[in-house]
Amino acid sequence: MKMELVYASTRDAQERVTASQAILRGLANDGGLFVPTQIPALDVPMEELGKMSYQETAYEVMKRFLTDFTEEELKHCINSAYDSKFDTEEIAPLVEADGAYYLELFHGSTIAFKDMALSILPYLLTTAAKKNHVKNEIVILTATSGDTGKAALAGFSDVPGTKIIVFYPKNGVSPIQEKQMVTQKGDNTFVVGIHGNFDQAQTGVKKMFSDAALAKEMDAAGYQFSSANSINIGRLVPQIVYYVYAYAKLYANGVIAKDEPVNVVVPTGNFGNILAAFYAKNMGIPIAKLICASNENKVLYDFFSTGTYDKNREFMLTSSPSMDILISSNLERLIYRIAGNDAEKNAALMRELTTTGKYEITPEMRAQLKDFYGNYTSEAETAEVIRALYEKTGYVIDTHTAVAAGVYGKYKKDTGDVDTKTVIASTASPFKFTRSVMDAIDHKYDSMSDFELVDELSRIANVAVPQAIEEIRNAKVLHDTVCEVDEMPQVVKNFLKI
Ligand SMILES: *Cc1c(COP(=O)(O)O)cnc(C)c1O
Repeated sequence: MKMELVYASTRDAQERVTASQAILRGLANDGGLFVPTQIPALDVPMEELGKMSYQETAYEVMKRFLTDFTEEELKHCINSAYDSKFDTEEIAPLVEADGAYYLELFHGSTIAFKDMALSILPYLLTTAAKKNHVKNEIVILTATSGDTGKAALAGFSDVPGTKIIVFYPKNGVSPIQEKQMVTQKGDNTFVVGIHGNFDQAQTGVKKMFSDAALAKEMDAAGYQFSSANSINIGRLVPQIVYYVYAYAKLYANGVIAKDEPVNVVVPTGNFGNILAAFYAKNMGIPIAKLICASNENKVLYDFFSTGTYDKNREFMLTSSPSMDILISSNLERLIYRIAGNDAEKNAALMRELTTTGKYEITPEMRAQLKDFYGNYTSEAETAEVIRALYEKTGYVIDTHTAVAAGVYGKYKKDTGDVDTKTVIASTASPFKFTRSVMDAIDHKYDSMSDFELVDELSRIANVAVPQAIEEIRNAKVLHDTVCEVDEMPQVVKNFLKI
């Protein structure tokens, strides 16, 4: 018998569930996040890990966290997720440029790193539903400001036992983002533009989640709601895999010696990706510094440099929109941990965040953050990083990755640590943010149309246009529903024919 790993709420010591229950529930009753009560050790020799495929590595990592999944179940989830949806068999290749190792997490169907977790979450969720004898079909409800909606649609498209409904602000997303969503294939996918902004879409979705009468009607018709939110442990665990994989490949390729530490730089928004790197370190992967990169919304940089988290500030719109965030939800998992896994202490800090918009951690807690380094990259610096790297090496990175590369430069200057091999998480394809990227390289591109820029980027970077972009060039619009905010529940019922 293997030991069952228990998940606890970060806000209530009494609330304990299995991995599959944590995935099904998403959030704990008290608003807390589910965390593993211990981080399992990765007791597999590096020689062996170095020879493994992405899928094999995923199995070794995930089986230690999702202990109530059988081998057959977990392998089915992994093999269904990491297949030809990715445009390379390596799934997450490493590219060396200017002395750093870029871990490309954008080879999935929507060419951004959200695919790494959202391509497996649907399978984890349906498997978890089966294990817990959920009879209903799962209906995923999501509000999106652009990127998450498309990645969730692509992940859940045609997954048996699920339907997905995405609401987006009709006039609040980019033309490319809208086109990506309204051309989504799959009989179980539904996309709705609302006359309202993202906050209204989000509030409408939250209301439906807590509408008891609606839940009853849904249940009678054989449905129940679930969420693909980024705080779901089913999104966090799959993200640990690529840090293990990257380290093992560096070792296998002779870049690093046995047990040689490496730094990891992560462009951070909701703190999910860098937390996964922290968990990889805790499993035993020799990660030296966890370098947390912010854009001009530098709440996390201020937190790491002062010990105070303060969201009371102006919200900046930047060229790295997926990091435009003032409340990094997943940071709560780290706070809980440095509070000594004390749910009461953590809950008190989170209450302060809700009421005053800020909290301060103790010196004892701060002392446990010494493996983290935080800094930020301004808009002008981000553009300069893209241009300089392209001119020096020919390699083109997107704006989010450039924020990370910029912070890595500052880290080297600050600390003098120029020798430790460093992995930079590359979270989006430059083709996803073509205009900002091309504009950074040369202002002469300003007058070109979006698709002209795509072709030009392909030419100068010597990289084929990704399938995800080719697809939307001529794709048919398959979703044209638009509604008012207060019509959202009725639209859901229409789709489900109840
Ligand atoms: C979501 C996202 C991020 C931020 O990741 P977190 O896990 O939220 O910190 C960074 N870059 C891109 C391109 C993203 O889509």
